[in-house]
Amino acid sequence: NDAVKNLKSSLADARMKADTDMLTGLSNRRAFERALGAACALAEKSKEKVALAICDVDHFKQFNDRFGHITGDRVLKLVGEILESHCGTHAQVCRFGGEEFVILFTGISTEDAYDMVEAAKNDLGSRNIIKRETREPVGKISFSAGIADFVRAGSAEALLHQADLALYEAKANGRDCVFGATVRP
Ligand code: GH3
Ligand code: MG
Ligand code: MG
Repeated sequence: NDAVKNLKSSLADARMKADTDMLTGLSNRRAFERALGAACALAEKSKEKVALAICDVDHFKQFNDRFGHITGDRVLKLVGEILESHCGTHAQVCRFGGEEFVILFTGISTEDAYDMVEAAKNDLGSRNIIKRETREPVGKISFSAGIADFVRAGSAEALLHQADLALYEAKANGRDCVFGATVRP
């Protein structure tokens, strides 16, 4: 009957919202952690390839200070869209929190994953972004990224940790670059 139908649909809606980042529409950290666990379990059982990228927008605090939070939010949406458009068919793109995104690749090599993240990075770098209210150009936006693969890492925790270490190296190397455990520029 209708009451049951309504209850079911509001339950489905609540579940969807619990897994979605409201700014970008991407999966949120909660959904990511579940997907990561599932992907790693599959990788162990059936040798499915799994790679993880962490992308962190460069100098974003400065950006917000200079152009404001609203424009910062629009930039985060754009970064999410660009990551999704380059990686989305092979991966789940998630907002990990703040200006950090994680991309969980399954069924493709870490080298291919690397190339897609690099392509997304170059795409973002090619955009002429302007602040909507004032039409003022905001300059180039970039992110740094670290990539790790499950075969090397051996566990979900280690995969996250290795991707994070690679991200740290990318930041230390001057930002606007992608670093990986298997592929080094
Ligand atoms: P780094 O290149 O080392 O990553 O520098 P950073 O400034 O990006 O790093 P830091 O961690 O110091 O600052 C992150 C900034 O991201 C701080 C905060 O203002 C901004 N930020 C986090 N979440 C949001 C958000 O939802 N919207 C907006 N507009 N800004 C956010
Ligand atoms: Mg950060
Ligand atoms: Mg940052």
